[in-house]
Amino acid sequence: MKEALHPTYYVTTATCACGNTFETGSIKQNLRVEICSNCHPFFTGKQKFIDAGGRVDKFKKKYGI
Ligand SMILES: [Zn+2]
Repeated sequence: MKEALHPTYYVTTATCACGNTFETGSIKQNLRVEICSNCHPFFTGKQKFIDAGGRVDKFKKKYGI
């Protein structure tokens, strides 16, 4: 009985700053993101990237957005 080691993984709706919403998997519910595959050409065809906010923040810092 060590289920607590694994956070619950939700399928939730993420809301982007551009107004786009999309379903994604996350350990959080009701995600809010500031960039998504719909508002950044880099992600076109690369939806695999969609993830929780931490990675998005790293991306933004890296590219100075
Ligand atoms: Zn967006």
